[in-house]
Amino acid sequence: MKPDRGIPLISGLSLGQGIIDLLRSCDCVVRAELTGAVRRMDPVAHEVALVASVKAEDKLASVVHFLRDRGFAMRPVPDHLKIPQALKASMTRLIRAVPAPTSGRDHTVAVYLTFDFLFPAVWVYTTGDALHNEALYRLKMHHASTGNEAFHAVDEAQVYSAAGLPYILPEMREGYSMAQDPRKLMTAQLIRGDLHTHSVSSDGALTITETVLACLDLGYEYCAITDHSQSLHIAGGLSPDRLLSQRDEIAEVRKRFPEFMVLHGAEVDILDDGQLDYSKDILDGLDIVLASIHSNMRQHESQLTQRLLSAIHCPYVHIIGHPTGRWLGKRPSYPVDMLQIIEAAAREDVALELNASPHRLDLDPKWLRIAAEAGCLFAINSDAHKKDDLNRIADFGVTMAHKGWLMPDQVINTWPTLRLKSWLAAKKHRP
Ligand SMILES: [Zn+2]
Ligand SMILES: [Zn+2]
Repeated sequence: MKPDRGIPLISGLSLGQGIIDLLRSCDCVVRAELTGAVRRMDPVAHEVALVASVKAEDKLASVVHFLRDRGFAMRPVPDHLKIPQALKASMTRLIRAVPAPTSGRDHTVAVYLTFDFLFPAVWVYTTGDALHNEALYRLKMHHASTGNEAFHAVDEAQVYSAAGLPYILPEMREGYSMAQDPRKLMTAQLIRGDLHTHSVSSDGALTITETVLACLDLGYEYCAITDHSQSLHIAGGLSPDRLLSQRDEIAEVRKRFPEFMVLHGAEVDILDDGQLDYSKDILDGLDIVLASIHSNMRQHESQLTQRLLSAIHCPYVHIIGHPTGRWLGKRPSYPVDMLQIIEAAAREDVALELNASPHRLDLDPKWLRIAAEAGCLFAINSDAHKKDDLNRIADFGVTMAHKGWLMPDQVINTWPTLRLKSWLAAKKHRP
């Protein structure tokens, strides 16, 4: 996999919002929206793209002037986007370089201007990737005998219906994901609990009771408290003694919320040699074990792969946390043979995490698709360290699940309490 160079999604979203505000401040602009890879919620994008519309030709010149005054320069619409020629002819593209806040590299912002009656079609064709656009155009030509009728649409849904397709979510407008049945997709409402949260005991901001209350607010039926293990001193990792006293604390909280399942878990470090950071006795006493790598990520690929494989083969491990360890915009994935990991996780019935932190988005959707095909299970988790973080599952996790074509039944935290509980318990009792 290529290193994660480019614009991390959250930077792209905030940069894009700034340009939308700028465009909307221009009197001649009718509509301005985010488009391209950032609208598709790609974890990393190569440019931030916007589409804006005007009523008529003379207004177009005013907007071009407005943008040129603000450092934008006119450039042709690139061919590689596979935008139909008839539509491309109506579009004007302006770009500007914006300094990236952390990396020091410039980010490219592109604004596509068009006429308002073409806005939905231009929005569709600037959002989709080349494969999506090509397939959509072919279907449109096949479906509608008249040439460019579908470009005059009242909304995006009409652009798709002209090609005989249902509306496709922006995040799925890539590759051949139009083959997916939109009625079967993951939704935030299907999530019944969060299986990766940190409390004040390690580096989180919420008490266990506060976490439970926040999860109840989200309509959840269960959650797991998964603080760091002893070796991760920097994050206040719990010694076995502190972990045991946390068990007592959870027992008290359970009495207050009898209808809600609080799982006592841990995010256990996978040590440099592949051993886990707690003894078997301690692991056996936990309801759920996430195993993650937080240290020595500069090892050789074979060592890192072995560390993850050891964790997958440990009968106490239920989930591999943020499997590639990337931190978008800061740190690429560590080198690991992901195909081997996927195969082992599928065989050993260990779930792979879709960590919904916008800094991680790990596993990446590309790997999710391969892992889903290989029969893996997944847990879409927030890795919350504070209350707002719990919303990450809805804000980012479900979207990434769409991009990775995950079906609800493959996601263990859509399962009802009893099913999850028996799956968690079954792991420990294997021969
Ligand atoms: Zn972690
Ligand atoms: Zn964590």
